[in-house]
Amino acid sequence: MSEELLFSNALKSSKAFNLIKNDFSLGLGNAYLIISQDDEAVQSFFRLIACAVFCDQHHSACLECDTCLQVLHYNHPDAKFFNQEKNTIKAESMRYFLEESRKAPVNLKNEKEPHLLIFIERLDLSSEKVMNFLLKSLEEPPAGVSFFLGTANESGVLETIKSRCRKVYLDIFTDDVILEELKSLNVPEESAEIAVACADGQLGKARRIAMDEDYAKSYKLVVDLLTNMKKSSDVIFYSNIFEKRMDNNMELLNIMSILLRNVTVYNTDPFMLRDGPIKEDIKKIAATFSVSAAEHSILAINDAKKKLYAPACNPQAIADYLLFSILEAKHIWR
Ligand SMILES: [Zn+2]
Repeated sequence: MSEELLFSNALKSSKAFNLIKNDFSLGLGNAYLIISQDDEAVQSFFRLIACAVFCDQHHSACLECDTCLQVLHYNHPDAKFFNQEKNTIKAESMRYFLEESRKAPVNLKNEKEPHLLIFIERLDLSSEKVMNFLLKSLEEPPAGVSFFLGTANESGVLETIKSRCRKVYLDIFTDDVILEELKSLNVPEESAEIAVACADGQLGKARRIAMDEDYAKSYKLVVDLLTNMKKSSDVIFYSNIFEKRMDNNMELLNIMSILLRNVTVYNTDPFMLRDGPIKEDIKKIAATFSVSAAEHSILAINDAKKKLYAPACNPQAIADYLLFSILEAKHIWR
């Protein structure tokens, strides 16, 4: 339980937050579906919304007044946060959430507009049956209640629920915004740069990468491999390193895809990439990969990922095959 609200600056200036904020003057809707793969950012986003609704400073979400602090301490009686563990939601849990939503708001300070906020994370992890319980509440919403439902993807939520919700896509954040947030968390510059490059615009993913010391090692290994793997004997050398980091194979492949995607961008228009240490790495790799070679290598990586998901796969053989495929792509599409 922390007073701090992760990513508060980025989230406050997000399009998603301002969309919902616009509704404050009109009256909040009964249900919102917040779509984002960034679980950690959604959790903060929900707390920020509750602060904004109840803040003593007229919806400013100051994060400092007594009411904001009450929300941030999970002590506000009218802001209820469910499934922060991001588990599969069981029928009995959903029943409990819905019972809670039928209680009258406790805080009647604003008598004109008492309000109860129900936040449920990762609704997409529940079964159709459980979602149908919720649907009933959305069809006949209790007065003064707003539901905020989080989902990692739209397809994981029933159409009937979606049609009752206002859809809000949490922003894909720019590199600069993510970098600022990581700096405010005192992440060292080098780790922050790597995290931003590999985070796909997600704040939570960037933070996880930045906190993981091993990630920087994986990143450097992949840069080294893509830059220096030039002949068959190199393949054997790098394949052995792959084997030693077997647990991290999927991570290595993800980093490889991200770097090669950046190589295609760089080779098309170098000014599309932000200046900095990562761009220097991309430049080195791009010198040995044409756009076509990088694209064919990305296809080979996707193929390797599929094989790695198969039960009883042979990671060493998959790594060998992948690295040879990349070498071949570099030769064919010079
Ligand atoms: Zn406040």
